[in-house]
Amino acid sequence: MLSTYRARLIFYTSLLTLFLLATLAYTYVYSRNAILEQAENNITNTARLLTGNIEMEENELLHYAEVIRDDPRIQEYMFMVTKVGAEQNALRRLFERNFGWLPIERFVFVDLNGQAQLDTQNADLANAVQEHLKYSENEIFYTQGSQGLELVAWAPIAYQGTPLGTVAVTHILNSGWLSQHQNYSGGHLFIEKNNVVQLSTLPQSEGKTFLPRDNTLVIDDDIYQVRAIPLSGEGMSSPHLWHGLSEQEMLNQLTRHSQLILALAILGGLAVLTMGLMIARNFNRPLSQLMHITKAVTQGALPTMGRAAETNEINTLANRFSEMLQSLREKQEEIDRVHKRLEESAITDSLTGLHNRRYLKQIFPKLFAQAQRELHCLSGLMLDLDYFKRINDRHGHLAGDLCLAHMGQILKESCRASDYVFRMGGEEFLILSMSDSTLGGELLAEKIRSALRKNPVTYKQTRICMTTSIGVSVADNNLDAEAALTNLLFQADKALYAAKNKGRNRVIIYNHSLYSTSTTQDAMS
Ligand code: GH3
Ligand code: MG
Ligand code: MG
Repeated sequence: MLSTYRARLIFYTSLLTLFLLATLAYTYVYSRNAILEQAENNITNTARLLTGNIEMEENELLHYAEVIRDDPRIQEYMFMVTKVGAEQNALRRLFERNFGWLPIERFVFVDLNGQAQLDTQNADLANAVQEHLKYSENEIFYTQGSQGLELVAWAPIAYQGTPLGTVAVTHILNSGWLSQHQNYSGGHLFIEKNNVVQLSTLPQSEGKTFLPRDNTLVIDDDIYQVRAIPLSGEGMSSPHLWHGLSEQEMLNQLTRHSQLILALAILGGLAVLTMGLMIARNFNRPLSQLMHITKAVTQGALPTMGRAAETNEINTLANRFSEMLQSLREKQEEIDRVHKRLEESAITDSLTGLHNRRYLKQIFPKLFAQAQRELHCLSGLMLDLDYFKRINDRHGHLAGDLCLAHMGQILKESCRASDYVFRMGGEEFLILSMSDSTLGGELLAEKIRSALRKNPVTYKQTRICMTTSIGVSVADNNLDAEAALTNLLFQADKALYAAKNKGRNRVIIYNHSLYSTSTTQDAMS
């Protein structure tokens, strides 16, 4: 089923894409749960962290109250003011000099009558302390003051065993404080009193009802997961601090996450697809091109192949293959040339360069068919050099060969391009010539006879004159090709025989009177 590389490539690419998508889907589900779980942990941890931080702030503030309480000069001046009725200014200056640097927002001295000393502006604070002391001994409590929720730490102050009253210091939990704590909580902080939001990092929630159910609260159609942050000295009517995480924000985070996963899935899919296409382009396409070419080669063709830049193994292979094809083509051309030469030499007489008797048998049927088709006369001229034996005897065999070559040259020059000249053997020649009438052959024969007589051969300063006898006949268009050739040669030979008998150096046209002198000899033998 996966026998081809192309099918395998598609299969593996699809498998890879599926794997990628499955991994991303799993990652999405897993990370969705992880995000929800993390959000759950986050809110619990943040609540815990906030509780710890606030406890630290409470203890720090208490420490400041105790430092002031334990200062002997302060105790002494406090005694002077509350018991002796001394000026408050000295105590104020002393306090500012010794404790003005403390990071506290307000402070107050409350005498045993509950009156605020030093600063009457802080009378509300003195009242709150007085109220608190009625039902609690907790040194830390919260109050809703004129400037918002206030963390209060107090300590009883005495001079040499004589109780003088209470010193209280505060830290205002205003919006600045809230946003400072919100920065690391990642959610929102709410200060709630009597089920109404007093202050919040979510301004639109201020003044709204705050009644959480199962740790969830709806504000402006958005659901918040909330956790209470316990505050010291908390009572039913005292303010409460809450930390809340918006589900919408969590969902937004999830949406962003899912969009990121989706973008990753699309990018991954595209990357795999591009990779597949690139492999198909760089690997499969040249390979299938090579396959097509090899198929063409097995069918006998030697196609040309363009060269490619050798950037990879397949291109290198294709280039080597192209070179192999080129050298095969060159070899094939050489074989064709040799074959043609062999074919030509097989039908050519080497001494004269004329066609030989073998070619006569090949070409005659075509010429004859043409003559039949076009109703032309195909004349056959049979030539034999006169007394050639004597030339050989007198001038030698080499001179004889030269005479034969000379005869060949005269025949070529005398004939038209459409005529065919054959050396039948020895000093015998045959010409096949196509013409409109029987006269054409006779005229050609006369022309040759005359040309040969007028053009003697010069051999070693000796002129060798030659003559030829010629018998002419015309092929019978009513016969078949083989019979027509036999008949033509027979009749031309008869005419040649007659020309020899009549004294040589002449042309005789075959006629039926010559037939009676015929023998049963086959002209082709
Ligand atoms: P005739 O006029 O009756 O034809 O007289 P002839 O001497 O030409 O007689 P014939 O045709 O019988 O003699 C042919 C001679 O041609 C015989 C042979 O020595 C010579 N001959 C045949 N082939 C070659 C050849 O290739 N080279 C040479 N030099 N001579 C050849
Ligand atoms: Mg002869
Ligand atoms: Mg002869």
